[in-house]
Amino acid sequence: MIEKFSLGVFLKKYSDNDKCLEKIKDLRWSNGIFCKQCEKITKFYKIKGRPVFECEFGGSHQVSPLAGTIFEKTTTPLQYWFYAIYIMTQTRSGISAKQLQRELGVTYKTAHRMFKKIRLLMTETKGDLLSGNVEIDETFVGGKGKNRAFKPNFSEIPKEVIMGMVERGGKLHTKHIPNTGKYTLLEEIQKNVDKNASIMTDNYAGYTQLSKYGYHHFSVNHSASEYTRGEIHTQNIEGVWSQLKRGITGVYRHVSKEYLQSYSDEFSWRYNHRNDINIFDSLLKQVAEVKILKSSQLSPIQY
Ligand SMILES: [Zn+2]
Repeated sequence: MIEKFSLGVFLKKYSDNDKCLEKIKDLRWSNGIFCKQCEKITKFYKIKGRPVFECEFGGSHQVSPLAGTIFEKTTTPLQYWFYAIYIMTQTRSGISAKQLQRELGVTYKTAHRMFKKIRLLMTETKGDLLSGNVEIDETFVGGKGKNRAFKPNFSEIPKEVIMGMVERGGKLHTKHIPNTGKYTLLEEIQKNVDKNASIMTDNYAGYTQLSKYGYHHFSVNHSASEYTRGEIHTQNIEGVWSQLKRGITGVYRHVSKEYLQSYSDEFSWRYNHRNDINIFDSLLKQVAEVKILKSSQLSPIQY
């Protein structure tokens, strides 16, 4: 039995800001810190009142674990950040900035800023191409909200498209795409799916020429009420859509166009780490990997 990382366990482990800071130091320098003056790996101790550590033998070599991370220059206690990361990983559909505000008792502005930064950690880095059986589909979101009253013709309300690809038993990739044209779809497939994969889709016209581009393509004819033919179906990606939409309507009420990709990334990240023993640790590890350049640029931290 895997011990659940319960709130109680979490609170005990990160009972104060120093424990959180220590954890980030350990994540960033997992093999110990090499002191330039002593010319060897030494112990580094925290300087009182500052998020800075210095060598046990004194001297001038100091390290700041928060520099370059999403926590750099924060005035919000680290423990709040850790708790926010904890609760953002505990549900399938996530929580909103508004919920974060309520849970932490901070202002909405602070909650929103934390939320955005934590989401940066959930940006999926380019991994292996999806292979094996890969289900591909697209879904429409949006079209609701206050504009509806002024637009009696629903077809005029722009809907946004999210394309999804899921490897059975493997990873999910989602992308907010501008349209459902076949070249848009093809481009995403070429970027993310292995040439030897078996692609399963419905009978949407945008996919019919996939085999012409060298893919093994199988489809089920949803318009003729055919949903599964042996191995050929799109049930996994459809399950993803229903969960993603439940998240959008149930948790966030509405996700504006500009945040749709970051919501999709957050959703995919959580899906892709669903079997992790400790998903909180998985996300926290990203703190050491993701360096904040500008508001949304990412790159690995240089040491
Ligand atoms: Zn030293």
